[in-house]
Amino acid sequence: MSQQLHCVVEGCDASITEETEEEVLEAAEEHAAEAHPDLELDEETVETIKQHIEEA
Ligand SMILES: [Zn+2]
Repeated sequence: MSQQLHCVVEGCDASITEETEEEVLEAAEEHAAEAHPDLELDEETVETIKQHIEEA
C-alpha cells in the first residue's frame, strides 16, 4: 500500500506516490518549491495537502 497525492494546485496534473504520508509531504514540498514558487506552504495549505493524500 502506498500513499498518493494529486497536486492541490488548480490546473497542475502532477501526482506524487510515496510509501508514507511523511514522504509524500516532503515530495510535495519539493514539487511546490519547483513548480509553484508562489505557493505558501502555511499550516492551512499543508492541511489541505494532507486531506488530498489517499491510499493507492
Ligand atoms: Zn503542482
